[in-house]
Amino acid sequence: MTPRRPLVAGNWKMNGLLASLAEIAAMGGVYDAPLRARLELVVCPPATLIGMAVDIATQASIGLGGQDCHTAPAGAHTGDISAEMLKDIGAAYVIVGHSERRAGHGETDALVQEKAAAALRAGLTPIICVGETRAERDAGDALTVVGAQIAGSLPADAPGSIVVAYEPVWAIGTGLTPTVADVAQMHAFARERVEARLGGGKSASVRILYGGSVKPSNARDLLSVANVDGALVGGASLAAKDFMAIADAY
Ligand code: PEP
Repeated sequence: MTPRRPLVAGNWKMNGLLASLAEIAAMGGVYDAPLRARLELVVCPPATLIGMAVDIATQASIGLGGQDCHTAPAGAHTGDISAEMLKDIGAAYVIVGHSERRAGHGETDALVQEKAAAALRAGLTPIICVGETRAERDAGDALTVVGAQIAGSLPADAPGSIVVAYEPVWAIGTGLTPTVADVAQMHAFARERVEARLGGGKSASVRILYGGSVKPSNARDLLSVANVDGALVGGASLAAKDFMAIADAY
Protein backbone atom coordinates (compact mmCIF):
# COMPACT_ATOMS: atom_id res chain seq x y z
CA MET A 1 0.00 0.00 0.00
CA THR A 2 1.27 3.49 -0.86
CA PRO A 3 1.58 5.37 2.41
CA ARG A 4 -1.00 8.12 2.82
CA ARG A 5 0.60 11.53 2.28
CA PRO A 6 -0.14 13.67 5.34
CA LEU A 7 -2.29 16.72 4.66
CA VAL A 8 -2.33 19.86 6.76
CA ALA A 9 -5.23 22.09 5.72
CA GLY A 10 -6.10 25.52 7.04
CA ASN A 11 -9.71 26.68 7.31
CA TRP A 12 -9.75 30.46 7.50
CA LYS A 13 -13.54 30.55 7.97
CA MET A 14 -14.94 34.10 7.51
CA ASN A 15 -11.56 35.71 8.09
CA GLY A 16 -9.12 37.31 5.70
CA LEU A 17 -8.80 40.52 3.72
CA LEU A 18 -6.44 41.30 0.86
CA ALA A 19 -3.63 41.94 3.33
CA SER A 20 -3.93 38.34 4.53
CA LEU A 21 -2.45 37.11 1.25
CA ALA A 22 0.90 37.99 2.83
CA GLU A 23 0.35 35.09 5.25
CA ILE A 24 0.08 32.64 2.35
CA ALA A 25 3.27 34.10 0.90
CA ALA A 26 4.96 33.67 4.29
CA MET A 27 3.76 30.05 4.49
CA GLY A 28 5.36 29.49 1.10
CA GLY A 29 8.64 30.81 2.45
CA VAL A 30 8.69 28.05 5.06
CA TYR A 31 7.22 25.28 2.90
CA ASP A 32 10.56 24.23 1.51
CA ALA A 33 11.48 21.10 -0.41
CA PRO A 34 12.06 18.86 2.66
CA LEU A 35 8.70 19.86 4.15
CA ARG A 36 6.95 19.43 0.80
CA ALA A 37 8.38 15.92 0.67
CA ARG A 38 6.84 15.20 4.09
CA LEU A 39 3.35 16.62 3.67
CA GLU A 40 0.81 18.40 1.52
CA LEU A 41 -0.26 21.90 2.54
CA VAL A 42 -3.65 23.41 1.68
CA VAL A 43 -5.23 26.72 2.64
CA CYS A 44 -8.98 27.33 2.44
CA PRO A 45 -9.37 31.12 2.54
CA PRO A 46 -12.71 32.83 2.05
CA ALA A 47 -13.88 32.51 -1.56
CA THR A 48 -13.20 36.21 -2.10
CA LEU A 49 -9.46 35.57 -1.82
CA ILE A 50 -9.02 32.30 -3.70
CA GLY A 51 -8.55 33.84 -7.14
CA MET A 52 -6.05 36.35 -5.85
CA ALA A 53 -4.14 33.71 -3.90
CA VAL A 54 -3.62 31.40 -6.88
CA ASP A 55 -0.31 32.80 -8.12
CA ILE A 56 1.25 33.00 -4.66
CA ALA A 57 0.00 29.54 -3.68
CA THR A 58 0.98 27.88 -6.95
CA GLN A 59 4.50 29.25 -6.75
CA ALA A 60 4.78 27.85 -3.25
CA SER A 61 3.16 24.47 -4.10
CA ILE A 62 0.38 25.23 -1.62
CA GLY A 63 -3.06 23.96 -2.59
CA LEU A 64 -6.20 26.07 -2.28
CA GLY A 65 -9.67 25.03 -1.20
CA GLY A 66 -13.13 26.47 -0.76
CA GLN A 67 -15.07 26.20 2.49
CA ASP A 68 -18.42 25.10 1.05
CA CYS A 69 -20.12 24.59 -2.30
CA HIS A 70 -23.65 24.34 -3.67
CA THR A 71 -24.85 21.01 -5.05
CA ALA A 72 -25.71 22.45 -8.49
CA PRO A 73 -23.11 23.45 -11.08
CA ALA A 74 -24.85 26.79 -11.80
CA GLY A 75 -28.23 28.43 -11.56
CA ALA A 76 -30.58 30.63 -9.58
CA HIS A 77 -28.98 30.29 -6.14
CA THR A 78 -28.22 33.81 -4.99
CA GLY A 79 -25.16 34.04 -2.80
CA ASP A 80 -24.01 30.47 -3.39
CA ILE A 81 -20.86 29.21 -5.07
CA SER A 82 -20.63 26.02 -7.10
CA ALA A 83 -17.86 23.47 -7.04
CA GLU A 84 -17.29 24.21 -10.72
CA MET A 85 -16.69 27.88 -9.88
CA LEU A 86 -14.16 26.95 -7.21
CA LYS A 87 -12.39 24.65 -9.64
CA ASP A 88 -12.44 27.32 -12.32
CA ILE A 89 -10.80 29.86 -10.05
CA GLY A 90 -7.98 27.52 -9.04
CA ALA A 91 -9.16 25.52 -6.03
CA ALA A 92 -8.35 21.82 -5.74
CA TYR A 93 -10.25 21.09 -2.52
CA VAL A 94 -13.50 22.08 -0.83
CA ILE A 95 -14.56 21.58 2.77
CA VAL A 96 -18.11 20.21 3.05
CA GLY A 97 -20.20 19.49 6.12
CA HIS A 98 -18.22 21.64 8.55
CA SER A 99 -20.05 21.66 11.88
CA GLU A 100 -20.51 25.43 11.61
CA ARG A 101 -22.51 24.86 8.43
CA ARG A 102 -24.34 21.85 9.83
CA ALA A 103 -25.35 23.94 12.88
CA GLY A 104 -25.66 27.41 11.36
CA HIS A 105 -27.22 26.47 8.01
CA GLY A 106 -29.11 23.32 8.93
CA GLU A 107 -27.00 21.09 6.68
CA THR A 108 -27.94 17.43 6.91
CA ASP A 109 -25.85 14.36 6.10
CA ALA A 110 -27.85 13.94 2.88
CA LEU A 111 -27.03 17.49 1.78
CA VAL A 112 -23.38 17.09 2.72
CA GLN A 113 -23.27 13.92 0.64
CA GLU A 114 -24.72 15.81 -2.34
CA LYS A 115 -22.14 18.54 -1.88
CA ALA A 116 -19.33 15.98 -1.74
CA ALA A 117 -20.66 14.43 -4.95
CA ALA A 118 -20.79 17.89 -6.54
CA ALA A 119 -17.17 18.46 -5.57
CA LEU A 120 -16.13 15.18 -7.17
CA ARG A 121 -18.18 15.99 -10.29
CA ALA A 122 -16.24 19.26 -10.63
CA GLY A 123 -12.87 17.61 -10.12
CA LEU A 124 -12.35 18.87 -6.58
CA THR A 125 -11.35 16.76 -3.59
CA PRO A 126 -13.97 17.08 -0.85
CA ILE A 127 -12.83 17.36 2.76
CA ILE A 128 -15.90 15.88 4.45
CA CYS A 129 -16.29 16.90 8.11
CA VAL A 130 -17.85 14.79 10.83
CA GLY A 131 -17.84 15.04 14.60
CA GLU A 132 -19.96 14.73 17.70
CA THR A 133 -21.21 17.46 20.06
CA ARG A 134 -20.26 17.60 23.73
CA ALA A 135 -23.68 16.28 24.74
CA GLU A 136 -23.35 13.35 22.34
CA ARG A 137 -19.91 12.47 23.72
CA ASP A 138 -21.09 12.80 27.31
CA ALA A 139 -23.98 10.47 26.52
CA GLY A 140 -21.52 7.87 25.21
CA ASP A 141 -22.80 8.29 21.65
CA ALA A 142 -19.68 9.70 19.91
CA LEU A 143 -18.95 6.58 17.87
CA THR A 144 -22.58 6.06 16.90
CA VAL A 145 -22.97 9.68 15.79
CA VAL A 146 -19.76 9.77 13.77
CA GLY A 147 -20.50 6.36 12.25
CA ALA A 148 -23.89 7.60 11.08
CA GLN A 149 -22.39 10.82 9.70
CA ILE A 150 -19.83 8.84 7.70
CA ALA A 151 -22.52 6.52 6.33
CA GLY A 152 -24.75 9.47 5.45
CA SER A 153 -22.25 12.07 4.24
CA LEU A 154 -19.87 10.09 1.99
CA PRO A 155 -21.09 9.28 -1.54
CA ALA A 156 -21.07 5.46 -1.75
CA ASP A 157 -19.13 5.56 -5.01
CA ALA A 158 -16.54 8.09 -3.83
CA PRO A 159 -12.92 7.32 -4.72
CA GLY A 160 -10.20 6.69 -2.15
CA SER A 161 -8.85 10.20 -2.83
CA ILE A 162 -11.51 11.88 -0.68
CA VAL A 163 -10.54 13.34 2.68
CA VAL A 164 -12.53 12.93 5.91
CA ALA A 165 -11.98 15.31 8.83
CA TYR A 166 -12.95 14.18 12.32
CA GLU A 167 -13.71 17.38 14.20
CA PRO A 168 -15.38 17.01 17.58
CA VAL A 169 -17.71 20.03 17.70
CA TRP A 170 -16.79 20.75 21.31
CA ALA A 171 -13.10 20.98 20.41
CA ILE A 172 -13.53 23.58 17.65
CA GLY A 173 -12.29 26.98 18.71
CA THR A 174 -12.43 26.08 22.41
CA GLY A 175 -8.85 25.13 23.22
CA LEU A 176 -10.15 21.71 24.30
CA THR A 177 -8.98 18.50 22.64
CA PRO A 178 -9.86 14.84 23.08
CA THR A 179 -7.29 12.59 24.71
CA VAL A 180 -4.84 10.87 22.44
CA ALA A 181 -6.57 7.59 23.34
CA ASP A 182 -9.96 8.98 22.27
CA VAL A 183 -8.51 10.27 19.00
CA ALA A 184 -6.93 6.86 18.35
CA GLN A 185 -10.21 5.07 19.03
CA MET A 186 -12.25 7.43 16.84
CA HIS A 187 -9.85 7.41 13.91
CA ALA A 188 -9.57 3.60 13.87
CA PHE A 189 -13.36 3.42 14.00
CA ALA A 190 -13.73 6.07 11.29
CA ARG A 191 -11.43 4.17 8.93
CA GLU A 192 -13.43 1.02 9.50
CA ARG A 193 -16.70 2.92 8.81
CA VAL A 194 -15.22 4.54 5.68
CA GLU A 195 -14.38 1.05 4.42
CA ALA A 196 -17.90 -0.14 5.23
CA ARG A 197 -19.24 2.77 3.18
CA LEU A 198 -16.87 2.74 0.20
CA GLY A 199 -15.65 -0.86 0.12
CA GLY A 200 -12.98 -2.23 -2.17
CA GLY A 201 -10.12 -1.44 0.19
CA LYS A 202 -10.54 2.26 -0.63
CA SER A 203 -10.32 3.34 3.00
CA ALA A 204 -6.62 2.48 2.99
CA SER A 205 -6.01 5.58 0.88
CA VAL A 206 -8.60 7.92 2.40
CA ARG A 207 -6.88 10.53 4.54
CA ILE A 208 -8.59 11.09 7.87
CA LEU A 209 -7.64 14.42 9.41
CA TYR A 210 -8.08 15.47 13.01
CA GLY A 211 -9.50 18.96 13.60
CA GLY A 212 -10.33 20.94 16.72
CA SER A 213 -8.00 23.32 18.57
CA VAL A 214 -4.83 22.02 16.91
CA LYS A 215 -2.00 24.32 17.98
CA PRO A 216 1.78 24.27 17.67
CA SER A 217 1.90 23.04 21.29
CA ASN A 218 -0.32 19.95 20.80
CA ALA A 219 0.23 19.17 17.11
CA ARG A 220 2.96 16.59 17.59
CA ASP A 221 0.92 14.53 20.07
CA LEU A 222 -2.27 14.65 18.00
CA LEU A 223 -0.64 14.06 14.64
CA SER A 224 1.41 11.08 15.76
CA VAL A 225 -1.73 9.04 16.60
CA ALA A 226 -2.32 6.00 14.36
CA ASN A 227 -4.83 6.65 11.57
CA VAL A 228 -4.42 10.43 11.87
CA ASP A 229 -3.27 11.55 8.42
CA GLY A 230 -3.04 15.25 9.08
CA ALA A 231 -4.96 18.16 10.51
CA LEU A 232 -7.73 20.56 9.63
CA VAL A 233 -6.72 23.74 11.43
CA GLY A 234 -8.98 26.71 12.05
CA GLY A 235 -7.78 29.61 14.20
CA ALA A 236 -4.13 28.61 14.17
CA SER A 237 -4.04 28.60 10.35
CA LEU A 238 -4.53 32.37 10.05
CA ALA A 239 -0.95 33.23 10.95
CA ALA A 240 1.79 31.64 8.89
CA LYS A 241 3.99 31.27 11.97
CA ASP A 242 1.50 29.05 13.85
CA PHE A 243 0.31 27.14 10.81
CA MET A 244 3.82 26.26 9.72
CA ALA A 245 4.79 25.27 13.27
CA ILE A 246 1.90 22.79 13.14
CA ALA A 247 3.04 21.51 9.74
CA ASP A 248 6.54 21.13 11.12
CA ALA A 249 5.17 18.68 13.69
CA TYR A 250 5.45 16.05 10.94
C1 PEP B 1 -12.19 24.17 12.26
O1 PEP B 1 -13.04 25.06 12.32
O2 PEP B 1 -12.18 23.40 11.30
C2 PEP B 1 -11.25 24.07 13.37
C3 PEP B 1 -10.62 22.95 13.53
O3 PEP B 1 -11.12 25.19 14.17
P1 PEP B 1 -10.05 25.41 15.34
O4 PEP B 1 -8.73 24.83 14.87
O5 PEP B 1 -10.00 26.88 15.52
O6 PEP B 1 -10.56 24.67 16.53
